[in-house]
Amino acid sequence: MSNKNIGVLTSGGDSPGMNAAIRAVVRSGIYNGYSIFGIKQGYKGLIKGEIESLTVNSVSNKIKLGGTFLLTARCKDFFTKSGRQLAYDNLKKYDISNLVVIGGDGSFRGLHTFIDEFDDILGVGIPGTIDNDLFGTDFTIGFDTAVNTALDAIDKIRDTATSHSRLFIVEVMGRNSGYIALYTGISGGAEEILIPETDTDIKKICNKLKVGHQRGKKSSIIVVSEGDEAGHAFEIKKKIEKLVDWDIRISVLGHQQRGGNPTAFDRVLASRLGYEAINAISKGINDKMIGVVNNKVVLTPLEKTWMEKKEIDNSFVKMADILAI
Ligand code: ADP
Repeated sequence: MSNKNIGVLTSGGDSPGMNAAIRAVVRSGIYNGYSIFGIKQGYKGLIKGEIESLTVNSVSNKIKLGGTFLLTARCKDFFTKSGRQLAYDNLKKYDISNLVVIGGDGSFRGLHTFIDEFDDILGVGIPGTIDNDLFGTDFTIGFDTAVNTALDAIDKIRDTATSHSRLFIVEVMGRNSGYIALYTGISGGAEEILIPETDTDIKKICNKLKVGHQRGKKSSIIVVSEGDEAGHAFEIKKKIEKLVDWDIRISVLGHQQRGGNPTAFDRVLASRLGYEAINAISKGINDKMIGVVNNKVVLTPLEKTWMEKKEIDNSFVKMADILAI
């Protein structure tokens, strides 16, 4: 049976806004009569017993901070039954029967397996990943901040690209998902956006860029998702150089996309999802992710969040293409 003790942890890749989500879980939980325990370093800290009581004050001034003050980790031992048994024993030590996991699909897989094994632990997930690749929510916490960070870089690159009449290939994060590339590309006015969800035709891209060039375009930017099937930025550059004789530069935007103060959008989303996680727990909800779809709170079975592919809206792809003629 579920009791009044809730454990909260952040796991896997960090994302800006995770702190705002923890804060919402803590404040809303305490308001509703729960005791909240922070677990350090995700499942690693759960196995090691790094658990501490959180108060209303523990989350003061955390809403604006990037990263996660509970720290995060990847944890091999949680893949094993014996590792998960240690995690369970630690929860029992603190009499915790509810777990809130803020993370991506890997963290949700771990949570799903865990609560399946131990009937007296209930768990809900909050989507925290910059990739926006989870089914069951329009946006994940951190995506908007990552896009804005990448956009800031693109705007700056555009200045220098224009001054030198250059073609820039900018690589953004997104191993299996083109969301960051698509949103960064649209908002940065990129000439081309290469994402894993669509076929990349280098010849066609070159022809289109040539037309723009002839029309007097001073610069061109190609945004490529690190997971694009045509390759990374350097591979794309090599392929383009075989067809045209342009001055091409590359900029690979790395982990800076994972850091920084969360945007207002991510803070509001994180606050909302943290708050709704407590509402779900108070109703005895188990094995679900809390998401927002069409501005409504939606609960999705954890398994569905990674089994079902979150599609890219094709009308966005078409629009991006037309606006970049
Ligand atoms: P993310 O949550 O960002 O997708 P990972 O894929 O690295 O991050 O997963 C985070 C952690 O979740 C892993 O290090 C592991 O401890 C746990 N995990 C992932 N998949 C499983 C699984 N199938 N079974 C048990 N634990 C898992």
